[in-house]
Amino acid sequence: MNGDPLSHGLWEKTAPAAPPAPKLIVDVDCDVAIVGAGFTGLSAALHAAQAGATVAVLDGAEIGFGGSGRNVGLVNAGMWVMPDELPHVLGQKHGDALLKLLGAAPRAVFELIDRHKIACEPERSGTLHCAVGARGFAELKERERQWRARGAPVRLLDKAEAAAKIGTNAYAGALLDERAGTIQPLAYSRGLAAAAIAAGARIHASSPVLGCVADGDRWILRTPSGAARAKWVIVATNAYTVAPWGELRAELTHLPYFNFATVPLDDETRRTILPQRQGCWDTPQVLSSFRFDQAGRLVFGSVGALRGTGLSIHRAWARRALAKLFPQLAGVAFEAEWYGMIGMTSDHLPRFHRLARNIVSFNGYNGRGIAPGTVFGRCLADLALGAIGEADLPLPVAPPKTAPLRHAFEAFYEVGAQLAHFVDARA
Ligand SMILES: Cc1cc2nc3c(=O)[nH]c(=O)nc-3n(C[C@H](O)[C@H](O)[C@H](O)COP(=O)(O)OP(=O)(O)OC[C@H]3O[C@@H](n4cnc5c(N)ncnc54)[C@H](O)[C@@H]3O)c2cc1C
Repeated sequence: MNGDPLSHGLWEKTAPAAPPAPKLIVDVDCDVAIVGAGFTGLSAALHAAQAGATVAVLDGAEIGFGGSGRNVGLVNAGMWVMPDELPHVLGQKHGDALLKLLGAAPRAVFELIDRHKIACEPERSGTLHCAVGARGFAELKERERQWRARGAPVRLLDKAEAAAKIGTNAYAGALLDERAGTIQPLAYSRGLAAAAIAAGARIHASSPVLGCVADGDRWILRTPSGAARAKWVIVATNAYTVAPWGELRAELTHLPYFNFATVPLDDETRRTILPQRQGCWDTPQVLSSFRFDQAGRLVFGSVGALRGTGLSIHRAWARRALAKLFPQLAGVAFEAEWYGMIGMTSDHLPRFHRLARNIVSFNGYNGRGIAPGTVFGRCLADLALGAIGEADLPLPVAPPKTAPLRHAFEAFYEVGAQLAHFVDARA
């Protein structure tokens, strides 16, 4: 996007065209103005417009420009942190509510896809969290215990079962989560946008919000060539936040993550890898992920930014690591490569903010944004329309807090990932 093949890679090559989203060149009045056209903003727009509100979405770049158009496409239930951690950190009420909402969130995504006939390659065969070594297996065993205590359909596979599902002996086991699956994320973003427009929302790309001022009981959002006046403002800019809500960006530490996509594999090779098409990621801190797209390309990713020395180091690592996992892929060509920034919070949990009267935001999804962004967007629409109150949200109101030493951590993650991949003994 914006002429950069490293921003959205394969997803830009294979997604259906975006619906028209003309730049805002006039002043508009609406009930709800939404800043950011990713999963959160577009889901909020769709649900608010469906409920009868007038809605304008403003994005500084394009539909799906942020994390929503760049990610791996794993539609996960829950967060990175262990399920029991949520009530521990958020308190029983919010912890239980968030777990319940996020546990059902993949189903909400797939139902929206079905209802609006969104062509985004949905695969509902689950995900496999793959255990590296005894430590990884012990972590997944505990994760299984905690989810099953909450009635979730997860199942720990031993080494042999995991090998049969994945097509490699590299893992000590895997946790199968039947709630989850995969999608083509940019196609899902564009499909959500088309559904929101069909429900009556206006979407304006190339329309960065530069300022926000009060006008009686309304807010005026200024862009370079037009303004939106609204009673409610939903700020859905997350890790790609550009002013005026810089505090949202400052609350997050950016973790870079890249993907390489192989050329489509031949049928025989395809049958030997992930025969049931689950999406996968593994347990180490510098994790790896892999999944198929519909045309049979294997998308393989890990932590790191494809810029400077990172491009050649991560590319060389990806070739070695892929061939080690699946020797039949030695020498396979990559058709696309891209990366993006994941917004991490200090406790790896998302935040709900009331930035001012009637200006609200969810922020910091920690690499879990497809299903959470979709249901959080729905919550924000319900809040703006008065269908629910703040007390009904799955998170408490919290003021944005600048992440200490975030620039130092960001540099550490980027350089650390290069070092890890340079010396990775596994590859
Ligand atoms: C490489 C990568 C891999 C990931 N893998 C997964 C995965 O497999 N599964 C999963 O669930 N999640 C994953 N995530 C996380 C997920 O993609 C994000 O959490 C999610 O996309 C966030 O959606 P959002 O709508 O909140 O924000 P975004 O999609 O980031 O959208 C924010 C938008 O706001 C716009 N914007 C910013 N400032 C302004 C302004 N001032 N005016 C107007 N517009 C503005 C931006 O242009 C952008 O389009 C991954 C993320 C990355 C980067």
